[in-house]
Amino acid sequence: PLPAHIYPNRRNSAGVDLADPLALAPLVEDLEHWRTDDPIARSTLRAERDRARTDVHSPFSGRVVGQCIPATSRDIDLAIARAVAAQPTWDALGGEARADLLLAASDLLEENTARLLDLCEREAGKSLPDAVLEVREAVDFLRYYACEARMLFGAPQPLPGPTGETNLLRLHGRGVFATISPWNFPLAIFMGPTAAALAAGNSVLAKPAEQTPLIAALAIDLCHQAGIPTDVLQLVPGDGTVGAALTSDPRIAGVAFTGSTGTAQKINRSLAAREGLIGILIAETGGQNAMIVDSSALPEQVTRDVIAAAFQSAGQRCSALRVLYLQEDVADTMLTMIKGAFRALVVGDPVDLATDVGPVIDEEAKAKLEAHVAEMQAAGFPVTRLPLPEICKDGHFVAPTIIEIGSILDLDEEQFGPVLHVVRYPVGTMRQVIDDINATGYGLTLGLHSRIAETRAFVEAHARVGNFYVNRNQIGAVVGSQPFGGEGLSGTGPKAGGPHYVTRFATERVTTIDT
Ligand code: NAP
Repeated sequence: PLPAHIYPNRRNSAGVDLADPLALAPLVEDLEHWRTDDPIARSTLRAERDRARTDVHSPFSGRVVGQCIPATSRDIDLAIARAVAAQPTWDALGGEARADLLLAASDLLEENTARLLDLCEREAGKSLPDAVLEVREAVDFLRYYACEARMLFGAPQPLPGPTGETNLLRLHGRGVFATISPWNFPLAIFMGPTAAALAAGNSVLAKPAEQTPLIAALAIDLCHQAGIPTDVLQLVPGDGTVGAALTSDPRIAGVAFTGSTGTAQKINRSLAAREGLIGILIAETGGQNAMIVDSSALPEQVTRDVIAAAFQSAGQRCSALRVLYLQEDVADTMLTMIKGAFRALVVGDPVDLATDVGPVIDEEAKAKLEAHVAEMQAAGFPVTRLPLPEICKDGHFVAPTIIEIGSILDLDEEQFGPVLHVVRYPVGTMRQVIDDINATGYGLTLGLHSRIAETRAFVEAHARVGNFYVNRNQIGAVVGSQPFGGEGLSGTGPKAGGPHYVTRFATERVTTIDT
């Protein structure tokens, strides 16, 4: 068979063309309809009468947009027991049948695009274009991993050789996986690792971020409607304590985590401290992502890409640009153009199609970003900020900000929001620039704007990053074409949406038969 990443029947999601009035008008009508819905996220197991509920708030208005019934320790225990019991049958079903169910789920997600977009916007504060990309990516993950299930989990692979025996290699699920996800891609990153774990024959306990349980609950519901058994895939909503309870339980065979580097390190310690089953960790974490621009770059292209990479999604993408390196002799020209485009950014209601920058997720995120800006200002670094319009007064808004600093090493950690740092570097110091970027320890995305082939080859050879983008922005990796993930403090790999991902969720068994 063909490798799954070039599988001929794989379809990427059609998405929605927001520039097409014929597509936009019915979508807007649908969105209006779902906006009146009163969603609730609950674990799939127990009746919810008399259960404690938490409110889910809109990052834009602060209003309550739904409720969540967090999983209790008893729910978690029961969920794990059911998942353990259900896994062997799911594994034995084989890759073909699992692929069919994942594809059915992908179709249902696509059919329910408007409901998903609505929740993306309501609980995560995403703009409509961002939310459209999010739904597309979730659908693409399901379809890509369905192809992998079909190809990798079918007939055993014969291993010919000198032994004279028949040797057969098969892949199986490891057992029960916990998938723990962040709020910034509340559907795509919730669904991606979950779909991969299911494809490999595991049962899955899926924990969304506490800020975004509603869209996760709908996605799980659609997967169940598609025929994925309810004990094989369970929603386990709640805060970080729910995640910690899952990872410390020795019945969990593996954890697929996406979130901050600090939380990944905690999970690593928790897995290591357990008695019994040795659990594996797949972690996709933060970044301190740079873009380097030399004097051969095209200023208009640089401006467009910097603005998109630093400020789209209010800078709340793991791949987002944090530190822009401008070659000294072109820095003034470039910065004047970038600041011009920056001043034209529209900050406001994510529902409004004219909005470029929406709110950050919550008050805690806002406070952390504001403290960073204040600290940089106090340290004497020049800061440029946009004024916030009146419409932003009730939401968790951070004014888009540009801070000129001396080196990436002036920053101690990732700032997850619309804050761009700019560094000027002298001609002939590319080695130092790359050494500094590597010295952060992160290794997620790196952009380079240069039309000099030697420069590209030099950066490619020396930068320790997972995804390197040349003459374009560094966000929006496409499933199957641009497998995504970092190294060092940015994650363990393998890359999401790539040909080595699903096998990490599986274990290998070999049968040897002497004739
Ligand atoms: P986070 O605080 O680390 O949380 C991520 C998830 O872990 C949440 O579901 C969280 O639950 C849970 N959690 C918290 N403490 C836990 C513990 N002790 N044990 C188990 N689970 C625990 O990250 P975030 O703020 O949601 O997300 C932003 C971060 O994600 C950024 O650093 C960003 O760069 C990174 N990210 C990386 C990628 C990538 O592909 N490399 C993609 C997207 C985001 P609660 O939220 O309920 O506390």
